[in-house]
Amino acid sequence: MKKNIIGLFVLFAAMQVVGQSGQKPDMVDYFTNNGLSGAVKTVQHPSGEYYKGVTYVAYQGPTEDPYVAAYNHKTAKWTGPFKAGESLLTGKPGKKMFDDHGKPAMIIDDEGYIHLVFGGHGGTQDLGKNTLGNYGRGKMIHVVTKKPMDISEWEELDNISPFGTYNQLVKMDNGDIYLCYRHGAHRSNLVYQLSTDNGRTFAPPVSILKTKQTTGTEENPDIQDSWYAWFDNGQGNDISVIYDYHVCKEPNHDTERHNCYYMVLDTDKNEWRNVEGEILSVPVTKELADEKTLVVDTDTHWAKRGAVRLDKKAYPHIIFYQGEKAGKYMVNKQVIYYRWTGKKWMTAESPELPIATGDIIVSSPKKATLLLAGKINDTPELAWWNTKDGGNSFKKGEVLYKGEKGGIGTSALIRNAHPDARVIIYGNHKGYFRKMYLVGDHGPIKRLKTEADQLDE
Ligand code: ZN
Repeated sequence: MKKNIIGLFVLFAAMQVVGQSGQKPDMVDYFTNNGLSGAVKTVQHPSGEYYKGVTYVAYQGPTEDPYVAAYNHKTAKWTGPFKAGESLLTGKPGKKMFDDHGKPAMIIDDEGYIHLVFGGHGGTQDLGKNTLGNYGRGKMIHVVTKKPMDISEWEELDNISPFGTYNQLVKMDNGDIYLCYRHGAHRSNLVYQLSTDNGRTFAPPVSILKTKQTTGTEENPDIQDSWYAWFDNGQGNDISVIYDYHVCKEPNHDTERHNCYYMVLDTDKNEWRNVEGEILSVPVTKELADEKTLVVDTDTHWAKRGAVRLDKKAYPHIIFYQGEKAGKYMVNKQVIYYRWTGKKWMTAESPELPIATGDIIVSSPKKATLLLAGKINDTPELAWWNTKDGGNSFKKGEVLYKGEKGGIGTSALIRNAHPDARVIIYGNHKGYFRKMYLVGDHGPIKRLKTEADQLDE
């Protein structure tokens, strides 16, 4: 009996030590503090991938260059961040001159090499003739690790168009890699380039959505159809895409965007189809998009693409952002949820959803979980929002991260994510620098402060 009490006491003492060491003051919940400005976003994606026990993450760091870090889930050790390339877009801290369009998208090929595409905001005239659109800034660049699963050394591969922006990577089960992007500034086609050799070569761009002159108005005689899109794996070897329509008008240009559209590329047959299975001829025009691919007409509301994921029946579930015009910009971006029931699009009026951005995990047609980052009552947080009734109502679930002040931004879901590392988010640090967090079901993955503090004080 006495022995047992002593044993208990020893056990309690040991637990206390563990408890204290679990909150060691030299551990922090960010993995680096050298993220810059809008260091990650849902559109340039994937920003990370879980591969053979390690989560690899990419973000925009100092002078808008791409940086990569890695977390080994077995050893609980971090490596990096390493600078992976040089962007022509160079932010100047303190001068608010960040372009923020050149954030890296990442994919790991079938041989374990890690690829990044970054640095593009449409490209410039000195890079050659852009036959699929107009010019912007920067240059879309492709880099790859020199060795599989080793983020310390990178080399540039000169094998993609320099005129890209909104760079996204989709890898199929057979290893084919689709690089999807807009081929220039606003007045450019949405395209993809296909690699069937682990990213060593890419076929020329194929147009998906067409930019073209349309009827002007007295105020804006020059108007062109323009698009923003988001791509992801669909069923089997399909690629799903959701998009919104930008009224690109001159001379009174603003960020007016409307509507939500959905379509699918069957990469086996090389055929595009709408949600009902009708074949579409590409590049899709505004007229065809309205007739065959419309999910919702947002009328006078402004709208922005979110994300799309499929349920077990391969029906799409979509989040979109709907807001109001304020000057040249869209504000109060409310999350809206849509899903295909097999017969029609269901738009769930869910006023309880916050003003936030994020991604979706769908488990069944009626059950979906949104992982959303935004400011709730002025506090930045990342939280689950769950529906069990097909989107009719949402309830806030667990909060995975809560900041004290400042802003918050999130990546899309990490590819093949480990439950401990689902997204990369950023919060404020100093000036335009950001603390970067790798967050999963147990909150942010911690790191030694001496390792995480990358910036010179
Ligand atoms: Zn425009």
